[in-house]
Amino acid sequence: MNHLPNQFPTAELQRRDAAHHLHPFTAAGELAEKGARVITSANGVYVTDSEGQDILDAMAGLWCVNIGYGRPELAEVAAQQMRELPYYNTFFQTTHLPVIDLSERIAQLAPGDLNHVFYGSSGSEANDTNIRLVRQYWALQGKPEKSIIISRKNAYHGSTLGGASLGGMVSMHEQGGLPIPDIHHINQPHWWAEGGDMSSDEFGLARARELEQAIEDLGEHRVAAFIAEPVQGAGGVIIPPDSYWPEIQRICDKYEILLIADEVICGFGRTGNWFGSQTFNIRPDIISIAKGLSSGYQPIGGSVVSDAVAEVMATSEFTHGYTYSSHPVAAAVALENLRILEDEKIVERVRDVTGPYLEKKWKSLADHPLVGEAKIIGMMGSIALSPNKANRARFKSDAGTIGYMCRERCFANHLIMRHVGDRMIISPPLIISTGEIDQLIARVQTALDETAAQVRREGLWQEA
Ligand SMILES: *Cc1c(COP(=O)(O)O)cnc(C)c1O
Repeated sequence: MNHLPNQFPTAELQRRDAAHHLHPFTAAGELAEKGARVITSANGVYVTDSEGQDILDAMAGLWCVNIGYGRPELAEVAAQQMRELPYYNTFFQTTHLPVIDLSERIAQLAPGDLNHVFYGSSGSEANDTNIRLVRQYWALQGKPEKSIIISRKNAYHGSTLGGASLGGMVSMHEQGGLPIPDIHHINQPHWWAEGGDMSSDEFGLARARELEQAIEDLGEHRVAAFIAEPVQGAGGVIIPPDSYWPEIQRICDKYEILLIADEVICGFGRTGNWFGSQTFNIRPDIISIAKGLSSGYQPIGGSVVSDAVAEVMATSEFTHGYTYSSHPVAAAVALENLRILEDEKIVERVRDVTGPYLEKKWKSLADHPLVGEAKIIGMMGSIALSPNKANRARFKSDAGTIGYMCRERCFANHLIMRHVGDRMIISPPLIISTGEIDQLIARVQTALDETAAQVRREGLWQEA
């Protein structure tokens, strides 16, 4: 690595951080006591903290650093674009080279006739665009009452008013008066937690049919669209039963509603294909993209819409846009990221080599006494921590107690793995090698052993 080690005392950095920086999704008081971990540099699949410790980042930042850290090509493209044209908008009947190139490239990569891109700087902004876009799409066809968007409980679609409303996170709806009107949530296809006595496939069908029931109850004339992540990410890497998506697709085909696939995590190789829609054989009318689009090197996201949707939208002005829509530096960096993903055959390698390798090792974690199930698709996986896998029991302690304990044991073993309640999740950079996968799995094993010992020691091995 070609960077200097950190020169500042960690405690001093933590004090200054706590004094003036408000962290996202964080209880500030608690963090101020503990002190934030200071990350100073990164390379490949490793981040380095202010103490000089290398940590294997099994979350690729926040699910986004698909090509791994430290690729100088992206830095060079950004610098060159900043010299050439650091900023210009595309509001005033203007355009520029990076956005022309990127849009063409995305249209080539995206499935079906998803050929038209509206940009923002994030996944949240993409989904806000989607809310306004699908409502306007129906209004333009004389159906302004078709405004309800159906989503799912425990979905994640971002943190803006629109994104958080589409999302089904109870803790987010509890703050700030969400959701906004005309968003309706159905149940999620989370068999492990909610499947009861049903087989996984029976349960998948039952949960998909809640969409049909909701359309019937609300009235087809009121429903604009259904939005879902191909695989729920932030909700806990919940891979739906095989029966789920075909039934959802059947229902979307039967009724006059648009299907929005939120590909913010699944897009750009995460599931072993370019898009999760390809992995699950879905034909969306719109996809949301962000994260892996630029591997997180620049903030950029967007909505990619079908020819049919674009054609309707073209008949009037869409009164929507962000100052940083179609940002030239972000677009240039995204394009270079896509070039690397493609030239280095990173998606194919996940599908054919490293994905299957990781899958085999990950699934073997289900043998651990603390692990109920181990699920994985491509480079996103989850394990359910359970006191009794025979009956899919939950722990008696508050949800997340054991998960947080496990996350702390991961950090202690130089591994970043996130917990969602008592579910542990990974989403490593797609360039992770088989040797690094071995290291990842070994660290997970150690963290699980240490967590199991602590759970026993503290008398927490109890079923709810
Ligand atoms: C992260 C995420 C978003 C929000 O993206 P931001 O860039 O954080 O606004 C939306 N949808 C999904 C599925 C995500 O994982």
